[in-house]
Amino acid sequence: MLPGMRPAGIRGMMAVMNGKPLPGEVPSGAPRQRRMFQSDPGAPTAGQLDAEFDRLARQAYVGVRDDVLDPEVAFDLACLLLKWGPPDPLAGELAERSAEGTDRERIADLARQVLAARFEPGFDLEPVLLERLEQALEVVTVDLEATGLEGPVRLVITDWHDPPHAYAEFRGVWGTAGGTSPADGAAPLSALVAIAGDLQEAVMEALWGTVWPVCPGHNLGAHAREYENAAVWWCNGDGGHVIAAIGHWDRLAGALPRS
Ligand SMILES: [Zn+2]
Repeated sequence: MLPGMRPAGIRGMMAVMNGKPLPGEVPSGAPRQRRMFQSDPGAPTAGQLDAEFDRLARQAYVGVRDDVLDPEVAFDLACLLLKWGPPDPLAGELAERSAEGTDRERIADLARQVLAARFEPGFDLEPVLLERLEQALEVVTVDLEATGLEGPVRLVITDWHDPPHAYAEFRGVWGTAGGTSPADGAAPLSALVAIAGDLQEAVMEALWGTVWPVCPGHNLGAHAREYENAAVWWCNGDGGHVIAAIGHWDRLAGALPRS
């Protein structure tokens, strides 16, 4: 998606004037001259702009990542942003530098910055993000089994978001919290926290009325979070405490779901 982009709107309205006939008169015998005010038929729609941005951003992203950025792609991307997006000095410099095409390092650096604010790579461009989420699901599934619950459990990719999110599915049911974004797969820790929370949503959706998992000490529902550089199940009882590291619920006793 391209924040700030708008369909043609006012900017796409082109007032085209042919000749200067007197008001209300069309000279007979002369070539037909008329005054026209019309939308620019060539102006792109919002959907076309998004698609074009996505096409260029993907190419630029891969180019930057693999150190093979084509200055022409960078130029086209910068021009698209300058023409249809809000004013952006970075995009302006990217257009200039990529038009020159000489300083490849600077072009890549600018493209990286321009993309960082607008483009999130999906699982298709960065499969490792999905791999981390899959690994996280395996870890969280250990906790599921430790609390006496059985799946099946899996990740489902949906295209409800751009880029598509992964949803932890438990017994064929997903949570309602929006799933897990590819960005959550950037590191194992963030992947664990996100997937644990997502699976929790799915379990509680599937087993309506059940809180999972539950702190055995306080009988309160746990929250997946990061704490002291670890992914943990957290309980808010007694001022808050770690129940267990995610994936290690089996070290607790009597930690069954509460119905
Ligand atoms: Zn507790």
